[in-house]
Formats: sequence, C-alpha cells, structure tokens
Amino acid sequence: MSAPNCLRCLLQLRPSVAVPRYVASRSTAAASAIPIASAWTAPFSTTTARDAKKKDKSGGGTHIRAGKKIKLGKFKKNTTADRGKAPAPGERKAYRKKILLSNNNALPVPGLADLSAEDMLNPKNAATVLSIPDAVVDQLRASEAFKPTQCWGVFRKPSVLLRSETIDLMTRMKGAAKQKQTLRLVVTGDRITGKSMLLLQAMTHAFLNDWIVVNIPEGQELTTACTEYAAIPGSDPVRYMQQNYVLKLIQAIRKANEKVFSKLSTVHSHPELPQHIPVGSPLMQLANSAKEADNAWMIFQALWQELTARGRPPLLFALDGLAHVMKVSDYRSPAFELIHSHDLALVRLFVESLSGAGAFPNGGAILAATSRGNSPRTPTMELALAQREAEQAKDAAADVPQPDPFFRGYDERVQAALRTVQVLKLSGITKLEARVLMEYWAASGILRTTVDETAVSEKWTLGGNGVVGEMERAALLTMRL
Ligand code: ATP
Ligand code: MG
Repeated sequence: MSAPNCLRCLLQLRPSVAVPRYVASRSTAAASAIPIASAWTAPFSTTTARDAKKKDKSGGGTHIRAGKKIKLGKFKKNTTADRGKAPAPGERKAYRKKILLSNNNALPVPGLADLSAEDMLNPKNAATVLSIPDAVVDQLRASEAFKPTQCWGVFRKPSVLLRSETIDLMTRMKGAAKQKQTLRLVVTGDRITGKSMLLLQAMTHAFLNDWIVVNIPEGQELTTACTEYAAIPGSDPVRYMQQNYVLKLIQAIRKANEKVFSKLSTVHSHPELPQHIPVGSPLMQLANSAKEADNAWMIFQALWQELTARGRPPLLFALDGLAHVMKVSDYRSPAFELIHSHDLALVRLFVESLSGAGAFPNGGAILAATSRGNSPRTPTMELALAQREAEQAKDAAADVPQPDPFFRGYDERVQAALRTVQVLKLSGITKLEARVLMEYWAASGILRTTVDETAVSEKWTLGGNGVVGEMERAALLTMRL
C-alpha cells in the first residue's frame, strides 16, 4: 500500500482551497497573483506523515532526511586493533610449502594397482594410472619431489599417469644403468606440461630399482642469495660452499636412501673429517656425522666420493628449475662482484655432471627440468636447448637455431655445460591418455561428469591440446584446496 502523502504538501497543491496564511495577510492584488505560482513550485514529497511528525517534533520541519550522525567522542583514539598472534619465524614458509598427499573424502579407486619396478618400462602400460607405493611416497617426500603446485591433496592416494614419455625416459635410464653409462638429459616444455612430474616419476623408478637418489628440488634456493655461503678455503679460482643448504641436503639424502645406505659401507678413509670413520664403517655412520653446518660441505664431499666409488648402485642426480643455475647468481664476492652460479660448489658439481665432465662410474642419470612457472630469462640456455632439440629431432631437415649476431649477453659457461645434453620436450598428452586420466578423476569422485568422447574432447581442447595442468584447471579447479 502506498504511503499517504504529507497533508501540508497536498494542501499546497490545491491553490483554490487553501491559501497560505502569509499570503492572506498581504494586499488582495498581490494575493491573487502569488498563490498559484507558489503552489506549482512548492516541493512535493512522498515522505510518510509519521516521519514528518517526528521531524516536526525535533524542530526541523523539513522533509530532508538527516544523514548518519557521528557522535564525536564515541571513538577511542590511539587504540590499535588486536590482530592476533604474529606467526613464528618460518611458519609462513612452512604453510606455503605444506603438501597434502591424501584426501580421505576422495573415493578409493577400485582396481588401482601399485607401481612396481618393471611397470614403468613396459610399453603396454603407457596411458595407465598407477599409484605410488607407500614406502616410495616417504622417500619422495624426503627428497622433496612433490611440489605444492601439484594436485595431490584432492585424491585418496598419490597416483600418476604413465604417459609415453615416461616409458621412454625410464627405458633410457634403465639402458644407461645397464651399460654403466650416465644419461644426461634436460626435460623442457611449455607451462604445466608435467616436467616436474616426469622428474618425480624418474625418482620413483630409481627408488623402486634401489638406485641412490640425490635431488635438488629448486635450483633457485641455491642462487637467489637466500642461504648462507662462504669461500672454500684454498680454492683457486675461488669457489663458494653453502653450508646450511648442504647440511639439509645430506639429511634429505640420508632419509630418502636409508634402505640402500644400510647395506653399504665406506671404502675410503676420510682423514680430513673431524670424526674418525675407518674404512668399512656403515655408510649411514658417515651420513649421520653431518650435524652442524660448519663441516657439512666436507662431509658432503666425502659422501659423494663414497657414492661414486666403483661397485655402488646407479645414481640419479636431479634438479628442478634449471634456469636459476644457468646464470649469474645473486651472491657477491668479497670484492662486491656478482658470483656466477657455476662458481657455487654444489651447483658446479651438478653442472659438471650434466656437461659430461663428471660421469658416474656405476652408471645412472643426471636429470634437470626447466620450469615455466618461475624462471628467470636465460637466453643462452634457451638457445642451447633449442639447438640440441633441433639436432636430435628425427626430422634431420629441421633448422638449428643460430645465436643472434647483435646480442652480446650469451654466456659461454652455460653453452659449454649444455653442449652435449639430450633434450626431452613435453607437450600435451594424447586423447587416450586424457581419457584414462579423466576416468581416474571420475572414479575418485572428483570429476562429476560422465567421461565420454565429448567430455574428453572438450577438456582436452580447453586444456590447450592436452596440457595436463590446464586440463586439471578446466576440470578440477573447484576442487583445489
Ligand atoms: P612448471 O612449468 O610450472 O614448472 P610443470 O611442467 O613442472 O610446470 P607439473 O607441476 O609437473 O608441471 O604438473 C602440472 C600439473 O599437471 C600438476 O598439477 C600435476 O599434478 C599434473 N600432472 C602432470 N603430469 C601428470 C601425470 N603424469 N599424471 C598425473 N598428473 C599429472
Ligand atoms: Mg615444474
């Protein structure tokens, strides 16, 4: 029901009925001219009569509503809001790096088998999803192979899709180990195509076959000047060690490779170490002796000497985020000059192994993966990898990219390191692989659509022709925690 209009306003609209009092008191001539004009220009309002009364009481008498009144003195001055307890040092980083590997609300997938040592070599297993055995999950976690950006937390159990590239890489690794050769390979590809996942699969293969695994999870942790460093005494040219990082790495190596280490004993005497470790001591004793950062680099060198001694199991040395170690680092020398990443001792060990200068006598693999999500610009590395890819392409007519003659920023040390590596370029998965992956998502109760030809084609196309990460975004975005 519409509110009744203000009586006074309505009266003003009727010039012949009600004439304002002040008009009546004027002369008759003036009175006959003024009322009609003033009536038509009088303000009209739909404010309710009750509101009008209230305003009249307060002495206002107008129909303009008052704005919100702020009473001065009501606010407390000079008081700060309670923001709760500030996070402890390192708490934010721990939260950022937290990785959930299981979700009890997801459905267990019937018929999902555990990976075995031979599964990753069998071409029949291409386009199948298999789960990672629990023991290997612990080893991978210790090696920091799982990334916070990957979608582990929505499934019941960590499982991976074996794609054709997986079988290819594992076969190459197996072949190299058999012939006691070292596979030196860089995994490249577009954003979120599964490069880090392929490294994880390579580590899974290594753990399942009782290899020794050394993993540097993020190249950037070594070169962005976020960990302590010091010049190695007596090194010429000067090399730098990163004691705290190396201590953490030794502990990770020990934890991840406990099963293999427990069967091995030392074959070298290490007189340089502060602790006496006679020849024939358990290898775990050497690994356990790293307790403080001060002598961590020395112990790491001794451990590396033991791991690369003849008669040991094959070795996998992996690094993710290659671009970060293929440039000048953010560290500075005592002369305040920037230090090249290859002068950092641990990076140098990896780069020498990758370049072929430090092959492993027991065979194995040195794998690196580039990252598109977080990567500095490294024109030399990009050119070198593009050249290797073109050289190794089956189509021999492919043009090998040439350096830009007008660009002066190429880095010779990077060129030398990547001169003979193999390159494995990842792109999208096939439609068959996409279907298998989507069926796994649906069986886990995460994907709520029927997986048929249309749905697979839709997600495959939305995912930029089968880019796994993009497909996940298209299908599982709402499920990400
Ligand atoms: P970036 O370029 O950012 O480093 P990336 O190429 O390393 O990305 P990943 O992190 O390995 O990509 O994978 C991206 C997403 O795709 C992850 O969520 C991962 O779970 C998924 N994924 C990739 N490969 C597989 C696979 N084989 N099986 C199951 N999921 C996969
Ligand atoms: Mg990655």
